[in-house]
Amino acid sequence: MRKYVAVMFALIALVLSACPAEEKNSADVFALDTYISMTAYGENSQKALEKAEALLTEREGLWSVTLADSEIGRINQAGGEAVSVSSVTADLLKRALSMAEETDGAFDPTIYPLVSAWGFTTDTYRIPGQTEIGEKLSLVDYKAVSVKEDSVKIGIGMQLDLGGIAKGYIGDEIAALMRKCGVDSAMISLGGNIHVVGSKPDGSAWQIGIKSPEDDGLLGVLAVRDQCVITSGAYERYFVGEDSRKYGHIIDPSTGYPADNGILSVTVTGGEGAVCDELSTAVFVMGLDKGCEYWRSSGEFEMIILTDDHVLYITEGIRESFRAVESDLIREVCIIER
Ligand code: AMP
Ligand code: MG
Repeated sequence: MRKYVAVMFALIALVLSACPAEEKNSADVFALDTYISMTAYGENSQKALEKAEALLTEREGLWSVTLADSEIGRINQAGGEAVSVSSVTADLLKRALSMAEETDGAFDPTIYPLVSAWGFTTDTYRIPGQTEIGEKLSLVDYKAVSVKEDSVKIGIGMQLDLGGIAKGYIGDEIAALMRKCGVDSAMISLGGNIHVVGSKPDGSAWQIGIKSPEDDGLLGVLAVRDQCVITSGAYERYFVGEDSRKYGHIIDPSTGYPADNGILSVTVTGGEGAVCDELSTAVFVMGLDKGCEYWRSSGEFEMIILTDDHVLYITEGIRESFRAVESDLIREVCIIER
């Protein structure tokens, strides 16, 4: 009998060692002015990653605001004439415009004249004078953008900037591409904006660290499956002016100045990257109270907000899946209820 059990164990060990761990493949790319890293599991993962890399190059060619011959570049230089665009650009723009409408202009894809006046695209930072800010503000108006089937028209002098939505939209496209290739476990990070496909290969939830806006540590960890986790904060790109104040890259379209409404960082999580990306930017502009009001009226997403008085706010839908870490940066954790 003892001999029989020993043989059985030996056989089980043999079967287990013959079972290969699921294939894992990764790709690191610099595109869209950001570091992108992707990890995918399963037998089709290498093919899916190659397709994702090709998609990234193609989307950068379409949407980079600094490439003169991208579709966005051509619209911005068209002097008010209609420009024909591909259907994916028309779709992205329609989504950006409808979010601008929904957030009452806190998210505005025509913000580029101001982003550029403050030097954020060229890294030649400066504080523009009040007259210049007034002039540029008059060019910011999402209502003056018209998108027809395959053509886009903006007002003379206006300029589009899809930096607040494009990465989320592309993340959705990559996640869809992975699923279509038969990959059911993957993680895509576009400059820290995370999209996960399915669960980890062992079936457990992905554990996503939420970065601290003030040091290399974390604010906490969020457990997710098939979701996006997208963060906005002035700390991502900012400069310190001659007046010793910090000026960040997210502009408040109601003032023309970098948004300064008491939020250090806002993370938005939900099923759709384009929506989470737009909302992280919009809530950063809105501030805590308006952001919470918007969350209550929406039901489409959850958020984690760190305010400049170091209170961490978490919406109730993720109270079980989010774990805050011990940090000097967090004075108090508050749950936001509906
Ligand atoms: P994010 O990191 O997603 O919050 O996006 C920030 C980027 O969006 C900036 O670098 C600008 O290119 C652009 N942006 C800045 N302010 C706004 C705004 N109010 N609405 C839409 N896009 C903006
Ligand atoms: Mg965004």
